[in-house]
Amino acid sequence: MSGQTGSIVQRSLDALMKDESFLRDLQDEARQKAFTSLVAILSTPNHVHKSFLRIPLEDGKVVRIPSYRVQHNNALGPYKGGIRFHESVNEDEVINLATLMTLKNALHDVPFGGGKGGVVINPRTFSVKELHQICKKYVQYFSDVLGPDKDIPAPDVGSGEREMDWMMAEYKSIRPGEPYRGSFTGKSVINGGSLGRRESTGKGVYFSLRYMLHDFIKNQSTLLNNTNNAFAKTALSYADRPLTLAVQGFGNVGSVAALEAYHCTLLQNKVVAVSDRNVTLFKSSGLDIPALIKFTSENNGDLPTTEEQLTEAGVSAEIRDREDVLYLDVDVMILAALEDQIHKDNMEKVKARLIVEGANAPVTSEADEYLSDNGVIIIPDILANAGGVIVSYFEWLQGRETQFYSEEEVFKLLVDKMKSTMDTILPQFFGDPFPLRQNCYIHSVVKLSTILYRQGKLY
Ligand code: GLU
Repeated sequence: MSGQTGSIVQRSLDALMKDESFLRDLQDEARQKAFTSLVAILSTPNHVHKSFLRIPLEDGKVVRIPSYRVQHNNALGPYKGGIRFHESVNEDEVINLATLMTLKNALHDVPFGGGKGGVVINPRTFSVKELHQICKKYVQYFSDVLGPDKDIPAPDVGSGEREMDWMMAEYKSIRPGEPYRGSFTGKSVINGGSLGRRESTGKGVYFSLRYMLHDFIKNQSTLLNNTNNAFAKTALSYADRPLTLAVQGFGNVGSVAALEAYHCTLLQNKVVAVSDRNVTLFKSSGLDIPALIKFTSENNGDLPTTEEQLTEAGVSAEIRDREDVLYLDVDVMILAALEDQIHKDNMEKVKARLIVEGANAPVTSEADEYLSDNGVIIIPDILANAGGVIVSYFEWLQGRETQFYSEEEVFKLLVDKMKSTMDTILPQFFGDPFPLRQNCYIHSVVKLSTILYRQGKLY
């Protein structure tokens, strides 16, 4: 297993090995053996499927596009995870992301395992017709290993409801007469998708921050005041005062999280910066997020990059370099772009004391350790950005029941689920010295190992 996930799974297992209440039925050699099996199971995926999709382009050329479906672990249910369309996709990355899905679902008690897909393309350079072909071919090549009770893809970076609609249609025609509604999630609402799925990840990201800084701090101030924990000090320093926020990434996750922050009166936020692949926009008194969302929806998803475009958007802001967003003197930074954004070469420049991971793995393991050692709270990906897969689960359920929930019901279910995870994790986090990521991993690994043990897989 590559990078951060591998090392933290290992550290979590080391911590568990010392904890006598864990796998208490087993002693000495038997316990050691169970740990060895656990490491082997969690550090390698069950299956790595790879194909080269053969696609005729509109100019007459034919290309072969590398694509993947990784099935990491299905102890808790069918494999589940998005399909990423990005030119930097590679096998190790997909394995790492599939592992995170296993841990994410275990953490939030979502009855799915972990999987992930990837297609090595820059979707912006393909026509709609070509993208449609790519989606159809992906399903044709991998249909044997997919299905509502086997492996259920969803959108990820570079893909969305249009791609899921195409894929489900192809799945349905390859397997006539079989159940298909739960074969893909993140579909359009008219095609069996769930209300609220599109906003779910961004809303969940913001909820994780709001819950920690508002509801939790208010109710647990005794716990926080009586602990020596550096993270508790950081959290307390944020209580009851206006906060400044910067958001890296203004796609489906970042823009929704920024909008939630803009509207949230409980935390008195000011979103002072947002960024995308071209630019950072900064305004110390707070940006007009709804106007920026309107502009991006009319401009191919891109933020304004010139004074003329800012005027057109009706927004006043300073135009800065794309990377500047990471180093601003703000209280909170939401990372909602791609992985590996904060790393050993730029970690010392980060000033925010609280980071929320809207993207998967945006902080490398070296940076994670450095920031955590300095008392910076990182609300990790598997905790913060699980809103997407949680609502995917509701979509899958609605497909089975052929009964649909209102948007209000979906958001209520989402918030209840995230709240219940945070109520389990946060008291431990503020009471012991581990960073939040490790706390979450320990929780997921305990759950997975208990199930694996019961299923007779640890020997
Ligand atoms: N791609 C999203 C994630 O990384 C959603 C996965 C899903 O809905 O299955 O969590």
